[in-house]
Amino acid sequence: LSLQLFLEKYGYFSQLGPGTHSPAEFTQALRAFQQVTHLPPSGVLDGPTLHQMALPRCGTGDGQSHTAQARRAPSAPRRRRTPQHGGRWHKRQLSYRVVNWPPYLPPHEVRLAVRAAFQLWSNVSALLFWEVWDGPADIRLTFFHGDHNDGLSNAFDGPGGALAHAFFPRRGEAHFDSAERWSLRSGKGRNLFVVVAHEVGHTLGLQHSPAKSALMSPYYKKLGKDFVLSWDDILAVQNLYGKPSKGSAIQLPGKVFTHFQDWSSDAYGVDQQQRSLSAYYCHSFFDAITADADHTLYIFKGSHFWEVPASGNASDPQPLESRWPGLPASIDASAWSQLSGKFYFFKGGRCWCYRGSRLQAGFPQKCSARGLPRHPDTVLYFQQLRRLVLFKGSKYFVASEETLSLEPYYPRSLRDWQGVPPGTAGALTHRDGFVYFFRDERYWQFDRAKLRVLATGKWAAQLPWMGCWDANAGQVLF
Ligand SMILES: [Zn+2]
Ligand SMILES: [Zn+2]
Repeated sequence: LSLQLFLEKYGYFSQLGPGTHSPAEFTQALRAFQQVTHLPPSGVLDGPTLHQMALPRCGTGDGQSHTAQARRAPSAPRRRRTPQHGGRWHKRQLSYRVVNWPPYLPPHEVRLAVRAAFQLWSNVSALLFWEVWDGPADIRLTFFHGDHNDGLSNAFDGPGGALAHAFFPRRGEAHFDSAERWSLRSGKGRNLFVVVAHEVGHTLGLQHSPAKSALMSPYYKKLGKDFVLSWDDILAVQNLYGKPSKGSAIQLPGKVFTHFQDWSSDAYGVDQQQRSLSAYYCHSFFDAITADADHTLYIFKGSHFWEVPASGNASDPQPLESRWPGLPASIDASAWSQLSGKFYFFKGGRCWCYRGSRLQAGFPQKCSARGLPRHPDTVLYFQQLRRLVLFKGSKYFVASEETLSLEPYYPRSLRDWQGVPPGTAGALTHRDGFVYFFRDERYWQFDRAKLRVLATGKWAAQLPWMGCWDANAGQVLF
């Protein structure tokens, strides 16, 4: 790749497309490249600059990162915006598909690595991803050799050089060079997990970051022991899509991702590893939780829910629409009534009531108009009162199922529920007779007769019936 082609390909000339450039433009372009790569900005093609240009990297241009750099350094000339500014998706639930597979890597390992790469981003933002195995998908990952019909400057160049590239929203394409020696172990070859995670960042609208530690910096990074995402990456994705719906961002260190290859041979087998990944609520936060007559748990997050039967084997995430048609995503609270066998859902000021999958006549209703709180933290059917109890901040509210309106003498102080913290995500009555409250990674076990908390701990590790058993085993780190 000639110097001119390199600088053109990566967006360092202000006019687009090939053409002739004056010596002054070359100096300017080199200086911008040196600033992005943290070299002394001499504007001269010296040894370190040539070396830097030869390193393996992402094939997507640096247009915006060096514009950002130029804005920060007043001595550098201001550069024109190139057309690769990110854009964003107008929805937060995105499907993805691995269209074909790299040679030499087992598809199920690639699938786990790709899922983990998407999970990196969903763990720190309001995004939610799911895989489709065929048909259309919002984001498609494809492996190509050489020229693959998206412009000669995007043709892959064999091992080294450009490893992959991707397009900003809403094209939803990431392309990977089939000729690289892709690997899912640490150390050997190019780590596919790291490169997929980076390219997924582009498909979400993230540009190259001038921060050295960022996953979105343009040069290939080995998988280290540290966090894969830096704060620069996290702020960039949250800037586009917001924070996780509840709780704070979860970062996972690189050492969690070094053993995709080993997973196929360990004692758990692939199905269970996939289950451990699919039950990612175990390492995240959920919107709401409840349990039905069979003591099956329902755990809600975004537009999906998980079912955890009494056996403790969590289902794959299922779309809310498939069970409760008409229910919106990201509900605030849910409860199942032992009295009527109905499911209740709350979001904003509204409430929904279902028997099975059937929305009951007259729903959704504006429950906040009848004295119930908007955005309740938690709803619980409380057998002692034969009522629904809504928790919001430092207060609780009581309503009968018939009227769904606030009963006299309420709201009252949360102090009546001795030891229950404000701001819980959900609660349920377990088959052991205790009520469990959940907030972030903790639970509180509540005695219904004594009306006080007996114990507290971490639910994923200490309550086997939450379906996170494989996370406890210490073998699989998800
Ligand atoms: Zn890139
Ligand atoms: Zn391409």
